[in-house]
Amino acid sequence: MSGKIIVIVAPSGSGKSTLIKKMKDDFPELVESVSFTTRPPRDGEVDGVHYNFISKEQFEIMIKDGEFLEWAEVHSNYYGTSKSFVEKQISSGTDLLFDLDVQGTDSFKAYFKERAQAIFIAPPSITELENRLRGRGTESTQVINLRIENSKREILRKDDFDFCIVNDDLDRAYKDLKEIVSKILKK
Ligand code: ADP
Ligand code: 5GP
Repeated sequence: MSGKIIVIVAPSGSGKSTLIKKMKDDFPELVESVSFTTRPPRDGEVDGVHYNFISKEQFEIMIKDGEFLEWAEVHSNYYGTSKSFVEKQISSGTDLLFDLDVQGTDSFKAYFKERAQAIFIAPPSITELENRLRGRGTESTQVINLRIENSKREILRKDDFDFCIVNDDLDRAYKDLKEIVSKILKK
């Protein structure tokens, strides 16, 4: 087991996907795990690339069959990490990137301990997070409201992980993230 495990954890709307997209250009060696989810795809999201989009019934069968390393119910949908994908990549020493909620990150830290390094991305404020979610316009008002409520709880966990970056100015936040990731990968 030699590959590194980097987990990006953040409330919805904090800018995590935007930062991860930049990371993939600078760290092409990092392989991102494609999670399974029961939430519907957003415009532009591709099955098998952004997520493996499956039904609730399929997800429940996968839970029963022990196919997830971890799974969680987030914003009223299921999300889970494929055990076989992670085992295969880890055995070949690949550096892996995960995008997880706080429950999934807690599971990873319990399982992989210090080998998994978790970076929390915090929004500058709840008001700004709300503006970003509404501005992104990918969810209904009802779903946005649910995500904002959940975010308030998740933000309370911001200092519980290995690193925390406040995504106020995108360029500065990315500079901090790049520095942290470079250090983790060099160790
Ligand atoms: P997440 O993946 O955490 O849900 P996104 O990366 O989709 O969040 O970002 C939510 C919205 O906020 C997007 O429209 C994105 O362009 C915008 N955004 C991301 N980072 C910043 C930033 N630092 N300043 C202003 N807007 C941002
Ligand atoms: P979104 O619907 O905005 O893509 O993701 C919602 C939340 O689910 C985010 O916090 C994201 O990190 C989390 N998430 C995505 N994939 C997984 C996964 O496999 N496991 C867990 N626990 N959370 C995930």
